[in-house]
Amino acid sequence: MTRLVVVGCGIVGAMVAYELSRLPHLVVTVIDQQLPGHGATGAALGILMGVISQKTKGRNWRLREASLRRYQTLLPELEALTGISIPHNHQGILSLCTDPEALPRWESLQARRSRQGWPLEIWSPQRVQAACPHLSGAGVVAGIYSPCDRQIAPKALTQALVKGAQQYGAEFIFNHPVQGFDTTDGRVTAVTTAADRYPADAVVITAGLGSTALGQTLGAQVPLGPVLGQGIRVRVPAPLGNDNFQPVINSHDVHLVPLGGNEYGVAATVEFPTDMERQPQADPTQLEAMWQTAVAYCPALAHATQLEQWQGLRPRPQGRAAPIVEPLTGHENVLLATGHYRNGVFLAPATAQQVQAHLLGCDPRP
Ligand SMILES: Cc1cc2nc3c(=O)[nH]c(=O)nc-3n(C[C@H](O)[C@H](O)[C@H](O)COP(=O)(O)OP(=O)(O)OC[C@H]3O[C@@H](n4cnc5c(N)ncnc54)[C@H](O)[C@@H]3O)c2cc1C
Repeated sequence: MTRLVVVGCGIVGAMVAYELSRLPHLVVTVIDQQLPGHGATGAALGILMGVISQKTKGRNWRLREASLRRYQTLLPELEALTGISIPHNHQGILSLCTDPEALPRWESLQARRSRQGWPLEIWSPQRVQAACPHLSGAGVVAGIYSPCDRQIAPKALTQALVKGAQQYGAEFIFNHPVQGFDTTDGRVTAVTTAADRYPADAVVITAGLGSTALGQTLGAQVPLGPVLGQGIRVRVPAPLGNDNFQPVINSHDVHLVPLGGNEYGVAATVEFPTDMERQPQADPTQLEAMWQTAVAYCPALAHATQLEQWQGLRPRPQGRAAPIVEPLTGHENVLLATGHYRNGVFLAPATAQQVQAHLLGCDPRP
């Protein structure tokens, strides 16, 4: 039996716990300082930008493709196992192209995806207007439609993963911050909270922005910085556009996400800390600019009722690509799975596969 302790229960920790608790020889314990999905995961809209992303090769694409494939089976599997319904949208992502000079890039992506076995459609402005009559169409030179990309509700998914992992025997400890580790000869032997000590043969740190402080307690650098994102949830009198075609729409990096019940999410700003700040403060002008971008491409939003504004902090690796999935320097039995920045919900399944491959001693697929 191998005792695995996972520190952090956002989408990444919950996914790692679920996938690994299914292995017969592992006993999984997950510890979080709050309730599950209350970190960055709680602020995400859960858009899975796979086929439509411009990442086409190397690690970037392999992680995306592994997650795309796993999501196809994961949601029905989890819903059947746990009885939890996980709201998701499988009507694809429609990206509005307003720059004629960008079209060759989309055409080349379409050809590439076709060779990779994934559909990507390039629509005329007329077809965009017919499919989505609520969009203004102003300046739109094409619609890039990706039918295999989807969106899921991150908190509901996290909760289902927790319940699924519990059904496979995993134990969860909530509202207890991990304060440190017991070590012997470069190995962590236990994870400690104020109340308890959890013996460990292996540890996975999935603590998002909290990973830096945890690394420090073990004398290792885990350089992550917070990047703030704000969003707005609105209600409209009736579904926007065609009732039976409600994809995620984006233009100029502003997403319009159907949430059901005539509600939509508009997100998200991308706000970096200034030189003087350790943590960025939410900037109302950036929120307003995002909102005006959304209203420009979907004018009906101007009459929507704003229900909520929210914000969250994305964990972004400093000076290197996201995410970080590798052993912690100086501690051979501690694995980092963190720093997922803007794609943690999407890349969680591929991350869990990498963690599993590492623990089993085989080559991580991605
Ligand atoms: C506004 C916004 C929109 C986003 N939209 C998307 C999107 O559409 N699609 C997408 O894929 N991604 C999106 N993201 C990014 C995504 O939210 C993150 O990449 C992802 O949630 C990171 O997950 P995580 O599990 O690593 O971290 P977190 O969700 O932050 O979880 C880390 C957990 O570790 C716990 N923790 C920290 N320190 C300790 C400690 N010492 N002891 C115990 N527990 C600890 C925390 O309590 C927390 O629960 C968005 C982010 C934001 C802010």
